[in-house]
Amino acid sequence: MTCLQCRSTRIIADVRVIDHAHGNSKKDLQVEVYENPGALIFKGMHAAKLTAHICEDCGLVMFTIPPETARELRLAQSNQS
Ligand SMILES: [Zn+2]
Repeated sequence: MTCLQCRSTRIIADVRVIDHAHGNSKKDLQVEVYENPGALIFKGMHAAKLTAHICEDCGLVMFTIPPETARELRLAQSNQS
């Protein structure tokens, strides 16, 4: 992996991204897409856990999700009603 900002290849890969949720419990930070965002329930939620990659030279933090999950999120968003 190459840094998007400084082109360095010294990347700290696959770092867990923590969200301190209610009660200070640790959870993985996620992105979410809904097929039916206006629904009260059954929104058709699709989620993906973020993984961070940090450039050792400039400190830029880059997030990724698995490519197959990215495709699932795009399909869910294109199916929005
Ligand atoms: Zn960098």
